[in-house]
Amino acid sequence: MTAFRADLHCHTTCSDGSLTPKETIVLAKQQGLSGLSITDHDSIDAYEETFPAAKEAGISLISGIEFSAMFAENSVHILGYSFDLNNQSLRELCLKHIQRREERNRAMLELLNAQGMPLTQEDVLACASIVSLEKKRVIGRPHIALALIKKGYVDTVQNAFRLYLGEGRSCYFRGDPISVDETISVIHGAGGFAIIAHPHLIKNEALVGKLLGMNFDGLEGYYSLIPPKKHDRWIKIAKNRSWIITGGSDFHGDIKSNIPLGCSGVDEETFRILEDQFKKMNSFPR
Ligand code: AMP
Ligand code: ZN
Ligand code: FE
Ligand code: FE
Repeated sequence: MTAFRADLHCHTTCSDGSLTPKETIVLAKQQGLSGLSITDHDSIDAYEETFPAAKEAGISLISGIEFSAMFAENSVHILGYSFDLNNQSLRELCLKHIQRREERNRAMLELLNAQGMPLTQEDVLACASIVSLEKKRVIGRPHIALALIKKGYVDTVQNAFRLYLGEGRSCYFRGDPISVDETISVIHGAGGFAIIAHPHLIKNEALVGKLLGMNFDGLEGYYSLIPPKKHDRWIKIAKNRSWIITGGSDFHGDIKSNIPLGCSGVDEETFRILEDQFKKMNSFPR
């Protein structure tokens, strides 16, 4: 029997991943995973129809999300797990993000246009693997990057970010900030755990210090293609605080083809902590 492994960080077509939620479940099974959390950006739409597929595949699925938040002028990603999927405030926060993104994407298209790279909303939508046009889909910079490639303005997603879309670049637009405190409090209000996403990627040490003093329940100690040695610092910090240590691949499918689902994750003991809380908060049949 293979050891229990759960990937707690992946994206689907409900945000900027390239596989549908159901395809992600099938792949999780193929990869030998036993547990999974889908953490789309600012969206829980993936959970609308995924539980039967997970059950069929023998995958234990728990609620998850990756919220974008701001601390002062810094962008911070926060993972939420085990929360009540029907919580009203959490659903409202998702809607607030969709609105923030609409305004922000419009502003970024205007900036691109002003710099001689005209793109329409339709061009971007065409690049967002739309499963159903009826649904609100979380559109992000990776979709704009794909549209820029399709138009021949850039050659790769990486270069789209490096030249135009990355923080501080000429066509980046921040949009209305939603604070770290507000995000943590909404996740807690929905009975979930609030976790600092991929702390390894935070370059600003002063920001790390501030975040570690906030009301988080844990951090993502195991992440993607980060060499194991680099995890030590974060594991130590989390243990000192008796925080939960989560882990995941940050799988996006084709958009980041070098990151396979299941390349990072957690063992059974950690997964059960999250799963127990998930079951407490969600009583629907699974
Ligand atoms: P957004 O949600 O619109 O702010 O876009 C953020 C997402 O863009 C991240 O979660 C990554 O998936 C992707 N991303 C951010 N920076 C880069 C980069 N330098 N190269 C490729 N993808 C990136
Ligand atoms: Zn993403
Ligand atoms: Fe992230
Ligand atoms: Fe992510």
